[in-house]
Amino acid sequence: MVSNFEKVVNFVEICEKKIMQRFNFNCKNNSMTPKIKFREKDINKLSGIIQVPIEILAKLQSMSLIDEIDARNLLIITDWRKLKRSKKYNTTQIIGALSNEYQVSDTTIESVIYAKRKLLYWCKSCEKRIPKGEFQRNSGICDKCVIESIEL
Ligand SMILES: [Zn+2]
Repeated sequence: MVSNFEKVVNFVEICEKKIMQRFNFNCKNNSMTPKIKFREKDINKLSGIIQVPIEILAKLQSMSLIDEIDARNLLIITDWRKLKRSKKYNTTQIIGALSNEYQVSDTTIESVIYAKRKLLYWCKSCEKRIPKGEFQRNSGICDKCVIESIEL
C-alpha cells in the first residue's frame, strides 16, 4: 500500500518536474505526451486521494502543472484497489471497466496496475530524494552532502 505521505511526496515532485519544464530547467522533452482531459469527477477523486483541495488542483491544472499521465495512473490504481477489495468483480471485468472509464486500452490498464513501485530513498542529512545506489553507497547520505562533509 502507498501511504498518504508517499502520495503527497510524489505529487509535489510531479509539480516540481512540471515547474522545471516550464522554466526550462533540466528540460526533458515532454511534447510527445498526449493531453488527457480530466473531468470534474476525476479532479474530485484526485483531490480525495492526495488530500489536496479541488480549487488548488484546478488551478495547477489550468497552469499545466499537473502531470496528466501520473495523475491518471493514480486514479486507475486507486479504483483498481477499491474494486479488487470489494471482491464483487473479477480481474477481467475490473480491467474492462477501468479501460472504459479512462479511455485507454486494457494493456495500458494492466501496465499501470501491475507496475512495481520503486522504493523511495531520501538523504538523511538534507532530505533530498536520492537513488537507491547512492543511498547504499554513502550509508544514507547524498553525494552532495558527502562532498560538503569532506575536510581538506
Ligand atoms: Zn543530502
